[in-house]
Order: sequence, then C-alpha cells, then structure tokens
Amino acid sequence: MARKRQADPAKINKILKDRGYKNGEPPRGYEAHHIKSLAEGGKDTYRNIRVIKTAKHRQIHKNRRKRGEE
Ligand SMILES: [Zn+2]
Repeated sequence: MARKRQADPAKINKILKDRGYKNGEPPRGYEAHHIKSLAEGGKDTYRNIRVIKTAKHRQIHKNRRKRGEE
C-alpha cells in the first residue's frame, strides 16, 4: 500500500495568506481542511482548502474513518 500523501504546510500557509488570514494561520479554534481528502486525490489547492471549526473538523474526519475513507 502506498504511503499516505501528506499535506504540504507551505502551500496551505500560502492559501490562507491569500485568503487574508494573518500569518497564513487559521484563527484560534479553527483548522484548515481538505474538502476532497488527500486519500481521495484531493490537493493542497485554493478551492480544496476550507477553514472550519476544530470541533467540526474532528467530526468530519471521524465520519470519514467510519466510512473507511481514510
Ligand atoms: Zn480535514
């Protein structure tokens, strides 16, 4: 099995800067999320990255794991 692709922090940082986030960091209590997961071929692109609340983020990934998607 291929090694799971990792997100590129530098790319995400630039995307968040372009969106106007200070230092390219999500605000406290928020995280950057890939709409289409890396496991499904999602990329570190402007359109595929969203900033969402940490709690919601955890829930999304919990659900994906339940469905065996990651
Ligand atoms: Zn995520």
